Amino acid sequence: MKLLVAVKRVVDYNVKVRVKSDKTAVETAGVKMSMNPFDEIAVEEAVRLKEKGVASEIVVVSVGPAQAQETIRTALAMGADRGVLVDTDHAVEPLGVAKALKALALREEAQLVILGKQAIDDDMNATGQMLAALMNWPQGTYASKIDIEGGVATVVREVDGGLETVTLALPGVVTADLRLNEPRYASLPNIMKARKKPIDVVKEADLGVDLAPRLTTIRVEEPATRKAGIKVADVAALVDKLRNEAKVI
Ligand code: AMP
Repeated sequence: MKLLVAVKRVVDYNVKVRVKSDKTAVETAGVKMSMNPFDEIAVEEAVRLKEKGVASEIVVVSVGPAQAQETIRTALAMGADRGVLVDTDHAVEPLGVAKALKALALREEAQLVILGKQAIDDDMNATGQMLAALMNWPQGTYASKIDIEGGVATVVREVDGGLETVTLALPGVVTADLRLNEPRYASLPNIMKARKKPIDVVKEADLGVDLAPRLTTIRVEEPATRKAGIKVADVAALVDKLRNEAKVI
């Protein structure tokens, strides 16, 4: 069974993001970039499925600039077999990525596509759902457990107030949530081995898809800074302020 895993290159989660002075976007020049954390979880799950003998091959896909090959390389060092970069120098949105993934899932005859539940840069939480819709495949989103047997994936989903278990007759789409697993660190020998694994670079025209953005960003702003708090002398003063200033009690 062949797996496709989608990995996005995003601003590293430890970086405090800054808005560009012209307020058109977040600053990425000179900023540390890494694999989207939920995609690391997706890659780890795919590698575990291969280790269990459930998956035969793992193909990692990224849509983005040439530097996204580094992100693919990280996934190869974790244990994926080969990569595909859909090379584009313009902004990409979930619909475009879903179209590219659809073209590749068909070309590769993938049985399962695993994505992160959300990219931490744009917080769209839409690509996996759009891909499932475009393919007319079942989807198991926010997965915290995946079991595959006899062409059926049993997915435990993290939903508000609990867990929901769904079954998907494969082929299907799964999006990874935080508790699915703890991604491994790539060992040095595996990082070396990953250098020899192939990465195919394709253009959107090669896939016959149009990834042009449909959304226009009007303005990007930093959240308002919080005002400093004050210390009150005692409980009576606090109650007074809550009642007469904040008017919440
Ligand atoms: P989003 O819908 O943008 O929040 O992203 C959800 C998931 O879709 C991510 O965790 C990735 O697995 C995948 N994805 C989104 N954008 C890209 C991209 N440019 N290249 C590869 N995968 C992506």
